[in-house]
Amino acid sequence: MPKDSNETYWASRIDEDEPQAPLVSLLVPCFNEEEVLPLFLERMQPILRALPGLRHEIVFVNDGSTDGTLAFLIGQTLRDPSIRVVDLSRNFGKEAALSAGLTEARGDAVVPFDADLQDPPEVIPRLVERWREGFEVVIARRVDRSCDGFLKRETANAFYRLHGRMTDIDLPENAGDFRLMDRRVVDALNAMPESCRFMKGLFAWAGFRTACVDYVRQPRAAGRSKFSGWKLWNLALEGITSFSTLPLRIWTYAGFVVAAGALVYALAVAVRTLVLGVDVPGYASLTVLILLFGGLQMIGMGMIGEYIGRIYMESKRRPLYFVRARFGGEPSSERS
Ligand code: UDP
Ligand code: MG
Repeated sequence: MPKDSNETYWASRIDEDEPQAPLVSLLVPCFNEEEVLPLFLERMQPILRALPGLRHEIVFVNDGSTDGTLAFLIGQTLRDPSIRVVDLSRNFGKEAALSAGLTEARGDAVVPFDADLQDPPEVIPRLVERWREGFEVVIARRVDRSCDGFLKRETANAFYRLHGRMTDIDLPENAGDFRLMDRRVVDALNAMPESCRFMKGLFAWAGFRTACVDYVRQPRAAGRSKFSGWKLWNLALEGITSFSTLPLRIWTYAGFVVAAGALVYALAVAVRTLVLGVDVPGYASLTVLILLFGGLQMIGMGMIGEYIGRIYMESKRRPLYFVRARFGGEPSSERS
């Protein structure tokens, strides 16, 4: 199978009739980004055009924006054939928008990129350079997140540490979704069937030959962050539960410890009763114990619930997103 897929892989890259330069797809999820998009194109396009010996396309995934994002993007597709727009039927969240974009992108390399210009476009040529050296994944790593605010930085750090301890995969620290992926990697990701998609984890799980490029992260160029603390908390939970079953298993050990404690306590009570006689007071300790175990059991059940919830979501086998319409790209491949 590898040989065969290799052949089709290279055949798709090297078109015999008309040898074409490799195509780089920039993948931009957009949710209410009308303020920043003009700036975005202005800064991004000269950089993409200057990529040596490469063609490029920009795939915008409109993730159910309620402002003028879609209208603006459609306008751009009329002006520039390298811009394509995939319009999702509603807001599905960034992870789903990325999945949609990975399926839609046609490039030999795909670069997911946030619309808000927090990651400098100037890094892209450096990613491409490493890719051409033969790396299949080139991660753009932030060396300085000072613009992100103390709380966000610290919670992010804590999350990476916890995730590293609890799962078998190593999330590269300080790496977001910003990276370059070879077609092989994109195909691997597209072949992953799960519907709970924690992209960073899936990226890391896929493996492949990986290189890193360092850069400094900027504050948002315009508009507001679309991620509230609650959304980030859920993302973190998703990240851990999609790659670790430790929270499930830990209750076995907690149960053992508590049961052993109870046994020791029972022995102590028996001995004390034999030596000192019957001890009537004890409501306080009883209440404390009942509450303690009630609480522990509820935590355990909640944890199991998290996983059962995910099994339920997966078992529905629903598509990750729906595409309402596509705009732009070469006219020959779509419509008349
Ligand atoms: N985004 C999206 N769907 C969402 C939320 C965000 O497509 O439901 C996009 C958003 O338009 C942006 C990127 O994901 O291009 C990152 O969002 P944001 O900058 O708000 O996140 P942060 O940088 O604060 O983590
Ligand atoms: Mg941002």
